[in-house]
Amino acid sequence: MPDTADDSAFDKIYSTDLIYVADCWRLCGDAHCCHFSRYRSASPSDRGLQKIPMLLGEYEYMQSRGYLDQYPSVELETQEIRSTDFEFRFETLSIPTEGCPCEHNIRPTMCRLYPLMPVFTPEQGLVDVDTESTPFEVVETLSNSPRACQVDAIPFAQLSKFLAICAAIQSAPRLVFSIMAYRLAQNTFREKLQSTMRDQNITVFEALARLSMRNELVDQPALATGLQALSGQFESVGLSITTAGSR
Ligand code: SF4
Ligand code: SF4
Repeated sequence: MPDTADDSAFDKIYSTDLIYVADCWRLCGDAHCCHFSRYRSASPSDRGLQKIPMLLGEYEYMQSRGYLDQYPSVELETQEIRSTDFEFRFETLSIPTEGCPCEHNIRPTMCRLYPLMPVFTPEQGLVDVDTESTPFEVVETLSNSPRACQVDAIPFAQLSKFLAICAAIQSAPRLVFSIMAYRLAQNTFREKLQSTMRDQNITVFEALARLSMRNELVDQPALATGLQALSGQFESVGLSITTAGSR
């Protein structure tokens, strides 16, 4: 299969060794971002599994380059979000391990960027940097807990690498769409948690447990509506995207 624009974007991303702080695992003590065990210890279904979000096309890219061979075993988990005439598939690598499963040089995009996520708009490109990379940071904010991750800014010496990854993402509209889709999902997660806490007068951890038990952590209709609107925004500025995960 010939390489695509996405492949050349991923080539640039995977050749950019962004390291905010060398050996930062010593700062949080246990390479927290590799297992989020502070939060996952209560969830038997996630125990012993590393979950890594994929951008659109990233799984196929890793497969085509042989990068999935770094894992002893790996499964692709998908979650489809559909509205009447729109479909988006969130893809996640699921790797059975308690430790760090990745080879540093071929680690996936989201881990490369963690804990600072670029914020894009289809019209303006990169507009901001978000310090709530994952749902775990959302929970930390809502519970007023200290951040487990000890990296909170891009050191000046690493700024050019961060911007190089952002530029590579921006060169492929599907990748920008992926990042925006994850942010949208995170926003619906935050809103669902906040409304459950407020309506039932409970803590964020109680709300999390109740929503998780009912498999309602994400408001799927709201997310589908948001994703459809986002795809309209891309079209209105002439950006063409295919939102299915595979090519
Ligand atoms: S990025 Fe944050 S959570 Fe991950 S190892 Fe470094 S300090 Fe720890
Ligand atoms: S790239 Fe792999 S080893 Fe590194 S933090 Fe992510 S999951 Fe862990």
